[in-house]
Amino acid sequence: MNDTNQIKKINQDILSRLQNVETSMKKIEKELKNTTGLNSFIENKHITRQDKIWGCEKCGSRLGIYDKEKDELRVRYRDFFAWWKPGIDGYLKIVCRGCSHINEVRYTDNGDNI
Ligand SMILES: [Zn+2]
Repeated sequence: MNDTNQIKKINQDILSRLQNVETSMKKIEKELKNTTGLNSFIENKHITRQDKIWGCEKCGSRLGIYDKEKDELRVRYRDFFAWWKPGIDGYLKIVCRGCSHINEVRYTDNGDNI
């Protein structure tokens, strides 16, 4: 292979890598647009005075938000969104992303869980 062919091959290689990066970026952008809407819904706009941040009992990292009025837990991680309502005798366990501690929500006698 002569120098010109080698340079051509390197250029093609770089070009195809750039195209891959570009495709990935477009996918990420699309994903971000989808999640940003939900994100603001779950994390910002809908936090009321009734809402309580549910933090890890060990390190304090945010695990989710507890809506006392609806008696519902909202949890988000990247493109994963969930609403939970454990109910009487129910429970919910979440492993903290910060310290790996297993946090558990359980109903107590007075109906207040966290
Ligand atoms: Zn933790």
